[in-house]
Amino acid sequence: MKDANDDKITFDGKTLPIVESFYSIQGEGFNTGKPAYFIRIGGCDVGCRWCDSKESWNYSRFPQIAIENIVADALKYPARAIVLTGGEPLNFPLDPLCNLLKRNGFTIFLETSGSSQFSGRFDWICLSPKKGKPPVGQQIYQMADELKIIVENDSDFIWGEECRKLVKNNCLLLFQPEWSKIKIVVPQIVEYVKEHPDWNISLQAHKFMNIP
Ligand code: SF4
Repeated sequence: MKDANDDKITFDGKTLPIVESFYSIQGEGFNTGKPAYFIRIGGCDVGCRWCDSKESWNYSRFPQIAIENIVADALKYPARAIVLTGGEPLNFPLDPLCNLLKRNGFTIFLETSGSSQFSGRFDWICLSPKKGKPPVGQQIYQMADELKIIVENDSDFIWGEECRKLVKNNCLLLFQPEWSKIKIVVPQIVEYVKEHPDWNISLQAHKFMNIP
């Protein structure tokens, strides 16, 4: 059904529904510890029960910001690294934003479930596929620089092994505990990774540091 705000929304990627943007430290995956400007794009229909950004799901709640303004805000901070996250950023065409960021010298990291059609250009792609709405086709698996599987129970190890068959050979393989279950699942992940050393562990370092 058409939302009342849809009339204000363009789907050409020249404006994007922005939940929030902020300067912080990347807390997850290979780029953990790097200062970066975060751009959280609204909209996601994957529906993870444990999602820590549920407020982002309905993109029509958020202001449509012109990409020129998004990039101008990013340029106010010293780091030239961007984390594009969501929601599911690939719900919107990302070529216009990525091209403008690139023209301004930014390195771009993407956080995606892969559940929508790929667009944009990135220096690092973190693919975190979800069982509830798996990636569209196999292309995104081959493009991923890291595969990040969120673990809330035993079935996620099986899911991780299914997904790793589809990624390229040098893709970084990560299990990351679901934050609310961390005390239960960390011992399981530690034992699994010790037995399956192709895998590494990712922790949400920003949550330990109490930063966004
Ligand atoms: Fe939340 Fe990400 Fe799952 Fe979407 S894919 S529901 S944003 S955790």
